[in-house]
Amino acid sequence: MTDFFDNKRPAKASLESLMRIFTIPEAPGSTLGRIETEISQNLNGFLANHIVAEERSLNDIEKDFADSAIPEQPQYVSDHTHHLLEKLIAQSVHTSAPSFIGHMTSALPYFLLPLSKLMTGLNQNLVKIETSKAFTPLERQVLGMMHRLVYEEQDDFYHTWMHSAQHSLGAFCSGGTIANITALWVARNNLLKADGDFKGVAKQGIHKALIHYGYEDVAILVSERGHYSLKKAADILGIGRDNVIAVKTDANNRMDIDALKTECQRLQQQNIRIMSIVGVAGTTETGNVDPLREMAQIAKQYDSHFHVDAAWGGATLLSNQYRHLLDGIELADSVTIDAHKQMYVPMGAGLVVFKNPAAVSSIEHHAEYILRKGSKDLGSHTLEGSRPGMAMMVYASLHIISRPGYELLINQGIEKARYFADIIDQDPDFELVTSPELCLLTYRYVPSQVQAFLKNANEQQTKDINKILDNLTKFIQKRQREAGKSFVSRTKIKVQTYFDQKVLVFRVVLANPLTTHEILHEVLAEQKQLAMESLEWLPQLLNKTSG
Ligand SMILES: *Cc1c(COP(=O)(O)O)cnc(C)c1O
Repeated sequence: MTDFFDNKRPAKASLESLMRIFTIPEAPGSTLGRIETEISQNLNGFLANHIVAEERSLNDIEKDFADSAIPEQPQYVSDHTHHLLEKLIAQSVHTSAPSFIGHMTSALPYFLLPLSKLMTGLNQNLVKIETSKAFTPLERQVLGMMHRLVYEEQDDFYHTWMHSAQHSLGAFCSGGTIANITALWVARNNLLKADGDFKGVAKQGIHKALIHYGYEDVAILVSERGHYSLKKAADILGIGRDNVIAVKTDANNRMDIDALKTECQRLQQQNIRIMSIVGVAGTTETGNVDPLREMAQIAKQYDSHFHVDAAWGGATLLSNQYRHLLDGIELADSVTIDAHKQMYVPMGAGLVVFKNPAAVSSIEHHAEYILRKGSKDLGSHTLEGSRPGMAMMVYASLHIISRPGYELLINQGIEKARYFADIIDQDPDFELVTSPELCLLTYRYVPSQVQAFLKNANEQQTKDINKILDNLTKFIQKRQREAGKSFVSRTKIKVQTYFDQKVLVFRVVLANPLTTHEILHEVLAEQKQLAMESLEWLPQLLNKTSG
């Protein structure tokens, strides 16, 4: 079989040639066909071969993407594939490399590739049953499974609610951001619901709602480690970013309960209604878990919606050994979990589950031609409209990997993070800044002499040293990324032992099962080597702290 576009020149777009791209499959010998075969046989090999390690500057790459004109001339599939390989794929990021340990995005199990192809081919739209059929009950089942993972209700609970047209155990969406917005949307609409003459915030808006209920304002409380998506939610929901109150954290980056109580009292005195208290189960920067049980109690006291943002850490519930780390999560009114983080599913799979199956009725939308009342269309209570059948990926992974399989993956991540923390701790030239509670930790390179100096330094001295250390950390992180062998990310966090100063740290997430102990040793060795090459910052440091 020959590939039409490989062999005959499509001089200009014709209906005949276009018909072929809808009907004729790619020949195995064509460029795209060869790539398909290679990817299905050895994806990692393909990526390792085609993503170049050496960095090109973004400025330079932008020149390849500078033309805003939509092509008038069609291209051969093979030519265009070569173009993609050279300009795009080569300059993408090898997120599945075992030494890429800086972000929450990691390797994927191979079976998701053919399934993704199937999903794209089927092109189901989950907004309504007419375009998704069996995908709708499948998605509801996935939401039921994730609800059960969090709330552990009995069989008859799920039997009653999972497929009920008037109820929903949650909402499947493209990610944690949308999941958090959905949770707070439900919280807002339930708090400022229709009452007497007032038709509810969904109909009449926030201004009339505040007047009707007699509140000065409404607020959302989250620790200062809360994810920025909560501010987006407050913005969109008309609550305002300033009304997301950042509560102080303790030495372990967890919500300080006394500070939370103080804030709640202050808000109440000012007649500001606490709409929601948000606990984080696995903060994005340090991986710590808020004291959820105590927070739930305070939320109850103030009659506030208790939401838990477990976008990243939620998958820990799959581990019987470590699920206790998220103790109290079952008290939440809603919980966000990203399947595309620690559940090894491709990007575009987030969800929120609600304790009360009737909670989502507050955001329900109906339309005549679609989403009719009483239908089981999922689109009637999701923020997004058209959505792909991503739930199939979560469904397949839960079945193929199974709960105990996930437990092994979660446990190895946590244990590897502890191992890495140990070797950082034992090395006199590294400082562990935050210990791993889950599989995320932060640290920095600080020569032993400088560490000794910092122990007794006053506030100003500490500030001066930290400033140079920040430059050194940035230097090492950038150089390491540019060299292309390994990647850690960097972030700035407040450190209590350093007079609450913000310091720049390396951030590591150990989710990739292919990351070995050896790789972790190599990452540290490379960082040490790079530090030695810093002709500016290292000498400055040693100079300032000697004698
Ligand atoms: C990643 C993350 C989010 C946002 O999720 P997206 O899928 O990126 O939209 C929200 N909260 C926390 C704690 C996260 O780690």
